[in-house]
Order: sequence, then C-alpha cells, then structure tokens
Amino acid sequence: MKRFSVLTIFPEFFEGFKNTGIVSRAIKNNIVQLDAINLRDYATDKHKTVDDVVYGGGPGMLLKPEPIFRAYEEISKKSKPYVLITEPWGRKFDQKFAQELSEKDHIMIICGRYEGVDERVKSIVDEEVSIGDFVLSGGEPAALVIMDAVIRLIPGVVGDEDSLRVDSFSDGLLGYPNYTRPAVYKGMEVPEVLRSGNHQLIAKWRRWKQLENTYKKRPELLEKANLSEEDKKMLDMIKKNIEFEKFINK
Ligand code: SAM
Repeated sequence: MKRFSVLTIFPEFFEGFKNTGIVSRAIKNNIVQLDAINLRDYATDKHKTVDDVVYGGGPGMLLKPEPIFRAYEEISKKSKPYVLITEPWGRKFDQKFAQELSEKDHIMIICGRYEGVDERVKSIVDEEVSIGDFVLSGGEPAALVIMDAVIRLIPGVVGDEDSLRVDSFSDGLLGYPNYTRPAVYKGMEVPEVLRSGNHQLIAKWRRWKQLENTYKKRPELLEKANLSEEDKKMLDMIKKNIEFEKFINK
C-alpha cells in the first residue's frame, strides 16, 4: 500500500479530495492510505502555536520548526517517508517527477503557509517541489495536485491501465483529441477515420494528432521526445502543412 502523510494546518482541505472519484476508490481498495495530519496536534504549548515572527524583521509569520520535527518523528516510526516540501522555488512538478514519486512507498508532504517554514526544516526534506511559477497562499493545493498525479500512476488505481499510456506527457508528447456520440453535433462532424473501424488507421491518425498537437502547442517537448522514423516523417509533413490523408495515400 502506498502511504501519503500530509502535514498541514488545514487537514479539512483534503476531505473532498479523499472522498472523490479515483482517489476515494484507491483508498477504499487499500491501495492508498492518505493521512492529512494536523500540525497543531504537534504544537508544544497549550495554545497550539504553529507559527512565529520572522528573525531579522519583515512581514508575516513562519511555520515553527518544532511541530514539524515532532510530527516527522512520529510519522517515521512506522516507515521512513520520502519528504517533500511545497515551495514556489522548488523543482517544477511534471509527469516525470510524478512517475518518480509513484515508485516511493511512503511520501510525506509538508505544506507551507504564511511566509513559509523555518529553513531548518529543510534538514529532513528530500526535495522541494513547486507546481508552477506563481504564489499560492499555502502548500495544500500543491499537495493535492501532486498526490492526484501520483495516485493515478499506481498500478490498479485507474481501472483501464491503457488510458495511462495515452495520457498527455506519458511518452513525452501531448495527447490526441477525442470525440463521443453523436457523430454530428451542431454541424460539427466526428472525423471520418474514427468511425472507420480500421484500428491501424485510427492508431496512425492519433499519433499524427499527438505530434501535431505537440508541434503547435508545446514544440519544445519534441526535442526530448522519443520519435520513431515514422513519427519523424509525420512531423516533417505536419510542419509543411500537409494533410494526414496525403500521408496515408503516399
Ligand atoms: N514567501 C514565499 C515566497 O516569497 O516565495 C511565499 C509563501 S506562500 C504565501 C505560502 C506557502 O505556499 C509556501 O511556503 C509554499 O509552501 C506554498 N506555495 C506557494 N506557491 C507555491 C507553488 N507555486 N508551488 C508549491 N507551493 C507553493
């Protein structure tokens, strides 16, 4: 079972997440254990203080080190976690990072609040993680994003494992567009090829669309993507604005 221990001053933030969709199923099926741990339970004074003023002056408060260390020591008794802390300047979270984390048995996420945490907490941290170049009010939304992306990669969580294989970024490219019924809606038609029943042709069309999507929306991803000879031929034609039908009838 994969274990997540989230240290937060707002454990209620995770209730909706734990009770929804794939995550709730993973918890019910004992694939995932997710504990949102209230940092205040580890405060050392009777007022349950978790924050204090910043040395050297300046605005705002900081999360104190003692409750975080005490919680870490308690959490580590059962199994030593891989410790993440949410930081706007941390390693940028992406699918590769999510894949790496999906290999860990026990992950602890420290959610910063206020101006952040006392720097000495970093002595127990394995990695600082950011979900993008913007500033949130706290690490909780980031922890949620991280856990969601990691949980869906754990074997047995997503019912149809094939859907993981075709997710955007899983092979370094963006995904392809999808359609459902009706075949024609408000004059807009589902591409003929998807209704052809020709699975080989459909697979080629989808690959073409993945390459086209990536080329148009995130061209920098193509530099690192693992492309076959056929992919390269397709990409060449996409760049020259040639239609898919021409590729098929070449
Ligand atoms: N004073 C900090 C700074 O200058 O970067 C900002 C603190 S922010 C208001 C409070 C907390 O939210 C941070 O300590 C961090 O835990 C979390 N946080 C904010 N932006 C984040 C981001 N982009 N990714 C991950 N965590 C973030």
